Amino acid sequence: MRLRFQPYALQFIHPFGVAGNTRTSTTSVFVEISEGTYKGYGEACLPPYLGETEQATTDFLSAAQPLITAFESAMDVFELLHRVDQLHPHCNAAKAAIDIALHDLLAKIKGEPLRLYKQLPNITAKPTSFTIGIDTEEVVVKKIKASTDFQILKIKAGTPHDKELISLIRQHTDKPLYIDVNQGWTNKNEALEMIKWLADKNVILVEQPMPKAQLDDMRWLTRHSPLPTFADESVKRLSDLEQLDGAFNGINIKLMKCTGVNEALKMINYCRDTGLQVFLGCMAESTCGTSAMAQLIGLADYIDLDAPQLYKNDPFTGLSYSAGQLHLNNASGTGAVPLPGLFGNF
Ligand code: MG
Repeated sequence: MRLRFQPYALQFIHPFGVAGNTRTSTTSVFVEISEGTYKGYGEACLPPYLGETEQATTDFLSAAQPLITAFESAMDVFELLHRVDQLHPHCNAAKAAIDIALHDLLAKIKGEPLRLYKQLPNITAKPTSFTIGIDTEEVVVKKIKASTDFQILKIKAGTPHDKELISLIRQHTDKPLYIDVNQGWTNKNEALEMIKWLADKNVILVEQPMPKAQLDDMRWLTRHSPLPTFADESVKRLSDLEQLDGAFNGINIKLMKCTGVNEALKMINYCRDTGLQVFLGCMAESTCGTSAMAQLIGLADYIDLDAPQLYKNDPFTGLSYSAGQLHLNNASGTGAVPLPGLFGNF
């Protein structure tokens, strides 16, 4: 097999803000793994808050190249992913890119969509939320108006102006909301007061209300919260889940955090065994990475897989959005197809 990669700047249609930073573009490194004439594609999405740089990612992928070349077939995927994981203690997005490309490749060789190859529910459409980042009042209102097709909005909160923001949104829409605080509330009593204020405003869930370091406060908050709480920054991989016992009602699983499809499926099983709800999310990734997670929607309670809607220059096609739903195609693999020429300049 052969591995190649290509860094790429995804340009946002609107500058994208979360508690802590705002940016106009985001870097991904796309990966192609080939076996004979078959090609699988993966993506490492590198938002700055992940702490994974383009240089560290391309260094990791360069280090993985001889490992991939040494394997004749993607059929040894579990052994291969185990060895890739051992190359570095971090670089989770780079590991995810390899995992996604291998799963895409394996399912293409079998001639099936990845969901069927992995014997997952054959669900091809599900309502997804549309994310509205922290921004000026004018832009927030503009984004609400632009999102008429979506039936659920995910709101980035976690600033001192959250009540004003939610009140503003409620002047324009009564759609259900997911509130993502991105660790922005640091006082548990104030956090509970905020959640109680949100509870009668058609809010479905609250994501990562408090900093990941305040785990005991999170347990207290979840015990008292009238709304379900979901972990995001508190969880990357399967090994993080045990320590969260009782701290949240559900988990936001993302391929870039958890190293890919293989581990995401293990985390979903853990959630099912322990009564945690499953929220499948994405980072600021293109159709390439999002298509891989979209293959798992039949296992999710909630999904937030709207990232491909955010860019001017997504270099992959394959997912579509209509009537507030994410739609998968029936192509083999993840269903993501690179635009001609994207991989021409290797
Ligand atoms: Mg989040």
